Amino acid sequence: MIPKKIQDAINEQIMHEFSSSYVYLSMSAYFQSTNLPGFAHWLMIQSREEYSHALKLYNHVIERGGKVELENIPKPKADFNNPLDVMKKVFEHEQKVTALIHALYELAVKEKDYPAQVMLQWFIEEQVEEEKNANEVIHLLKQVGEAPAGLIMLDRQLAARKAE
Ligand code: MG
Repeated sequence: MIPKKIQDAINEQIMHEFSSSYVYLSMSAYFQSTNLPGFAHWLMIQSREEYSHALKLYNHVIERGGKVELENIPKPKADFNNPLDVMKKVFEHEQKVTALIHALYELAVKEKDYPAQVMLQWFIEEQVEEEKNANEVIHLLKQVGEAPAGLIMLDRQLAARKAE
């Protein structure tokens, strides 16, 4: 059986993962509206990944006989200044999620919940990847600067991102 404290904390994290999915979906829509379909595609894949993270947590609670309680998802921002602004926000958002995952892991250690620790180790590794991915796009955008041709090339590059 899953400890109540862990169950509640995981339910909270399920909301954060759905919230991430929602945030990236909103960003994807922004890129569609600014004619950058490659960026929009990259964020659509990101959004779906976050949805799958939420389900991973959901399944953990279910498998251990716990109760899933879904919480409200905050309304995401719909307006952004430019591609760099969006990608910086992706990176900041992932840093926040990393801190949440680490806090959840600390709780699982404190409560001696070993199954939750094992499950969360996957998330800890995943967060390293998530921050790296966002940072790579930020670096590329900084190299491109104000050059429209560079931005179009980068958009094509991001259009090639495959779903995991
Ligand atoms: Mg996630």
